[in-house]
Amino acid sequence: MPVRVLITDPLDPAGIRALEEAGVEVDYRPDITSEELKAIVGRYDALIVRGRTKVTGEVIAASSGRLKAVCRAGVGLDNIDLRAAEEAGITVFNTPEASTEAVAELTVGLMLSLARSIPTADRSLKEGRWAKRELVGWELRGKTLGILGFGRIGQRVAEICHALGMRILAYRRTRPPSLEAVLARTGAIMASSLEELLVNSDIITIHVPLTPQTKHMIGEREIALMKQGAILINTSRGGVVDEKALYEALRSGKLAAAALDVFEEEPPSGLSLELAKLPNVVATPHIGGQTREAQRMASELAAKKLIDFFRSRGLLRGAGEAQG
Ligand code: NAD
Repeated sequence: MPVRVLITDPLDPAGIRALEEAGVEVDYRPDITSEELKAIVGRYDALIVRGRTKVTGEVIAASSGRLKAVCRAGVGLDNIDLRAAEEAGITVFNTPEASTEAVAELTVGLMLSLARSIPTADRSLKEGRWAKRELVGWELRGKTLGILGFGRIGQRVAEICHALGMRILAYRRTRPPSLEAVLARTGAIMASSLEELLVNSDIITIHVPLTPQTKHMIGEREIALMKQGAILINTSRGGVVDEKALYEALRSGKLAAAALDVFEEEPPSGLSLELAKLPNVVATPHIGGQTREAQRMASELAAKKLIDFFRSRGLLRGAGEAQG
């Protein structure tokens, strides 16, 4: 019986080609509804999803034992019921490596947008105003950048910002030996506590995952510790920042500005939308991973991980071997 994979969200064709070349039968249903998914999931060995499809306990229950793997092409597994998957013996993968460069570059772009008021400058010109005198910005060089969460994306942000002449202060829970090379390369200093990072940074950029420990990790207390007029950038997940506290801090002037790619509620409504609309906020609709390169890499990596998975279980022949 051939290995069958169902793709339920839009996916770059590169991964689909790779799967087919490896002998996998692929069905591409990027607009499938949850009811349709439940009706047909039992015919597949694996699913590839992005963020839209919810792989709930009900979907897993409907997979009737055939489903062996779910691959999220992208980062974050919040749309997959991991406990139900584990109980059903289903392996779950994702491809977090794919969007590192895209998110790091967006983060730096947002920083520059705030520093030079690029969105305001563009808007005023299009409205027929020549606002040159009002648009006096500041430079990144010489500023201290606090990087909260120093993994793949945080480290790449450090590399780029080091080249821009910024001082880097980073904080993460652990300090594995592998960090030493990036510290040497970027001149980054590890803060010994979150407080040390908050107190000393001109700009703080967040790159931690959303977990029970990081939920509202930046709230009223943490903002109070920041420098008067500090800048906050969040391209990680909305829930890491307490939006009510951030809203107040941006209104009172405690924080000079913020750039947000992610919100507690997406698309934003209520408080999230009010926050996005503040004049000292630059907001983008969760586009961190939205580059052609990242989409393609996510698709290729998802395919590769699934092919390796099925080959390791003897369900697919190795490269160059004919399918039986
Ligand atoms: P990563 O796992 O490589 O790095 C996460 C870092 O956070 C690690 O250094 C880890 O030690 C640190 N960390 C975790 N919990 C912590 C805590 N309680 N206190 C301090 N540090 C903690 O992840 P990554 O690839 O760098 O991605 C980071 C996050 O970016 C993702 O989890 C995701 O939420 C977000 N992201 C957003 C987009 C987007 O479209 N905006 C795209 C990709 C990723």
